[in-house]
Amino acid sequence: MLRAAAALTLALLVPAISMGQQVPARYYGQQEGLGNLAVTAMAQSPDGYLWLGTENGLYRHNGTSFQRYAQREGLGEVQVTGVTVDHEGHVWVSNYSNLYLETGGRLRPVLRDDGRKINMWPSQNMSIAPDGTRYLITGQRIYTLTLRDGKTEVRPVYSEERVAQNMALARVSGVLAEAGGALWFGCDGALCHQGADGLTVWGPAQGVPKEDWRAFLRDRGGQLWVRGDRHIIALPAGAQRFVDRTLPGMFRQEPLRPVLAEDRQGRVLSNADDGVIRWSQDHWEHYGAANGLRSAGGVTALQFDADGGLWLGSRGLGLVNWRGYGNWENWTTAQGLPNDVVLSFVHAADGVLYTGTRSGLARLPPGARQFAPVATGLPPLRWSSLALDGDGQIWGATFSGVLARLARDGRARIHAQDLTGVTSLLVDRQQRLWLSTYDGVAVSGTGDGRQPVRAPEGLTQSKGNDATASLSQCQAPDGSLWFLKMNQLLQLDSTGWHSHVAIPDGDAELSVMSCAADGALWLSDTRGRLWRATVGAAGVQFKAVDSPLLAGASIVGLLEDRRGWLWVATDAGVAIWNRAHWRFFNQDDGLVWNDTNGQGFYEATDGSMWIATSNGASHVLHPELLFAPRQLSVRIETARRGAEPLAPDRQWQLPWANAPLELELASLHAQNRGALRFHYRLAGLENDWAVTATPHLRYATLPPGDYQFEYYASNDYSHSRSPVQTHAVSILPPWWRTWPFYLLCAALGALLLALAYRLRVRHLLKRQLHTEQLVRERTRELEQSREQLRQRALRDSLTGAWNRGAILELVEHALAQALAQRQPLLLVLLDLDYFKRINDNYGHAAGDAVLRETVARLSAAVRQSDAVGRYGGEEFLVLLPGLNQANGHGRVEELRHAIRHEPVRIDERQTLAVTGSFGAIAFDPQRPLSMAQLIELADQALYRAKENGRNRIEYAPAAA
Ligand code: GH3
Ligand code: MG
Ligand code: MG
Repeated sequence: MLRAAAALTLALLVPAISMGQQVPARYYGQQEGLGNLAVTAMAQSPDGYLWLGTENGLYRHNGTSFQRYAQREGLGEVQVTGVTVDHEGHVWVSNYSNLYLETGGRLRPVLRDDGRKINMWPSQNMSIAPDGTRYLITGQRIYTLTLRDGKTEVRPVYSEERVAQNMALARVSGVLAEAGGALWFGCDGALCHQGADGLTVWGPAQGVPKEDWRAFLRDRGGQLWVRGDRHIIALPAGAQRFVDRTLPGMFRQEPLRPVLAEDRQGRVLSNADDGVIRWSQDHWEHYGAANGLRSAGGVTALQFDADGGLWLGSRGLGLVNWRGYGNWENWTTAQGLPNDVVLSFVHAADGVLYTGTRSGLARLPPGARQFAPVATGLPPLRWSSLALDGDGQIWGATFSGVLARLARDGRARIHAQDLTGVTSLLVDRQQRLWLSTYDGVAVSGTGDGRQPVRAPEGLTQSKGNDATASLSQCQAPDGSLWFLKMNQLLQLDSTGWHSHVAIPDGDAELSVMSCAADGALWLSDTRGRLWRATVGAAGVQFKAVDSPLLAGASIVGLLEDRRGWLWVATDAGVAIWNRAHWRFFNQDDGLVWNDTNGQGFYEATDGSMWIATSNGASHVLHPELLFAPRQLSVRIETARRGAEPLAPDRQWQLPWANAPLELELASLHAQNRGALRFHYRLAGLENDWAVTATPHLRYATLPPGDYQFEYYASNDYSHSRSPVQTHAVSILPPWWRTWPFYLLCAALGALLLALAYRLRVRHLLKRQLHTEQLVRERTRELEQSREQLRQRALRDSLTGAWNRGAILELVEHALAQALAQRQPLLLVLLDLDYFKRINDNYGHAAGDAVLRETVARLSAAVRQSDAVGRYGGEEFLVLLPGLNQANGHGRVEELRHAIRHEPVRIDERQTLAVTGSFGAIAFDPQRPLSMAQLIELADQALYRAKENGRNRIEYAPAAA
């Protein structure tokens, strides 16, 4: 009795704990790059990054990977005690010996104004007031922290005198900064409130047990939540006394950094020994290992992201993402289902949800957190289908051919058990119970169940009752009933049964059907295609409904819900069409299992949707949230040129280099991550967009030029895309492609041209000189040859003596001169003796040789002023100006002597003695004779010389 009373008291004091549903948790650990799995603190910055403090370094998470901050980045001691993001987006990180401000990838230590370090313990050791004022606790005292132009100021909130007056101010354990400078903080085991009206201390009299209060939260309802290591208390808005909300046995003795968080629905969460607890109106819900939420050494951080998703830090299992938080609730055998293969659902009139599984039925009363098996009294059966009739009775059918109704106590009343397998039950508006079975359509009545299951009236063999399986059935808005049998649609309307051939395309067979609100039918075929069919006079008209999200999937279930949205169950997840857009959800987003089951969907009366899978059931609490617009963002996470990092927030002006440009993009959204794609192109280099799921991009050596790197993220599953971002990239030309170099080249070119010109001019000059030289030489040669010609005209060709014309001219000229100068002149005519014989005896050549020798000897014997001429044959005329017979005789004698004194050599062996006969005449200017007279007289004298014996000289007698 006493125990019962104590238990009752406890129940009043402590709200009941109910087990939650299966948590769709995803764990991030060392495989993803989170090197330390003992998370100690967490915060999200406005740009979407999750910042995680661990026992070995700080990590920044971008949705895909983790970036570590440790000693190299400035973190002195690697065990992080706190991470806070302020209103300006600054990230403040603390450990047991320092506070740091994250700046451009480095952690910069912050010191107190007196130069001392700021050591911080694991608690709510920093709080940002609504106006942005930062409060921090170090050395168990409260300070304000201001940041101006990169310089920090840390000032105590309470002066030394003030602290001396109230020593509680020297033992501060956690702080909450509120509007107007108001503060709540733990002070020496009590709670202190600093308001405009002064400092008040809240203790046991105000419902505050003695405890070091270390976590604070003001919820949107105005309630203040405060946690220590062992208690959690709340001060409702306007109340003057705290309520103890401690959950006995949930907070262990070993302290775990207490945390408080509030979800989008305004529910407060905190960490417990095993997992998390969530305050739901009047009780705590607990989610722990039993819900699949493992946390090893406990949850140490709770963070809601911008999309409402929940992130948990665990001490030992790293970062945990609770997918679909607040909208997707999952139920498995851990929550009481008899089997994880869920097949069917129906709500009873009293709100209890019944579900059929592969091995029995289970029920979930409203608000319950655990399914309870339904004691049907039957062995475990595969309940393919459940239906509620107008009387509130629940009907169930199995794949093994049992049809039963459930009594209020859950016991099954067998109605039929010799049926072939039942795939679907339908209670129509006339309260007929329709069964789709392996061998066709059957019907029964509801009510007391006395009506037997039978073949439908009027459905003859020819109309289609041919023992082939009925796959699907539904009732159209006009009351018509539709049954799908492979290539046949059976219709029952007020006029009776109609059979329609239904072949959408080729050899595909239809497999699933759902009635649409507008009278059309949704159908899918065995090839995974979706059709919208209308039935008229012309038969069945099919229209394909295409969605890229369905490509390759096998459709196993269809439902048009009361909103008019089409739900498509596939073997890879759930597609939903709201008549404007498609969305797709799978395990990444909170769905319990990707492989959905046949009668996959059940729309509850509250509009929520139950989804049956082969590994549990998912309950979508607010389907409308599934189409909430998603803001996608995308950023350049890291950029590198070869080994050199590039700042992602600045334009890149890069010198040309033989190094690749490497980029990593990130999109910091957890929803539908599997369908996240990155699109990019480098305008200026490529026109087409490239798309990738793994955004590590690499551009091999870029040619010089100006480029725009354009990129955006898209997600087909959530039908969202980010704005296109651009980043300017300039590759500067190498030195050999710069203007100075071009100018240098031009100058060099000009120089070369000038040089070539000069060389050419010199060459031309040289050639001109050479030509002139040639001309001169040629002129001289010409002159010479002309002289030679002239000489040749005057000389005898054989002997070289003047020829007859020339010697006569000379004689004529000499006679005129002699006459003019009154000078004598001696004219000698000589003829070789017996010359004919030489010719005859020695040959003509010998004669020629004698002639040439004669002239040579005569010429050698005369003076410069004399002349020797060949007068004819072997006759010669010698002109001796200035001489007369008296002083010229010696000279003539010399001539005779010259011919005869030595024999003439006619060849190498013989010589000939040659003589000549001379006839001479002296010209007397006193009594001048003509040349002809003179020559005639000389010839007569020559004749006499021949007459007188030859080889002698005869003178013409002086003129008488
Ligand atoms: P004489 O002592 O009476 O003068 O006797 P001769 O043989 O000299 O007499 P003649 O005057 O009759 O002969 C001259 C010869 O000279 C005739 C001719 O054949 C020869 N003769 C004339 N001109 C040339 C010549 O140019 N070359 C050679 N080999 N013989 C020539
Ligand atoms: Mg002669
Ligand atoms: Mg002769």
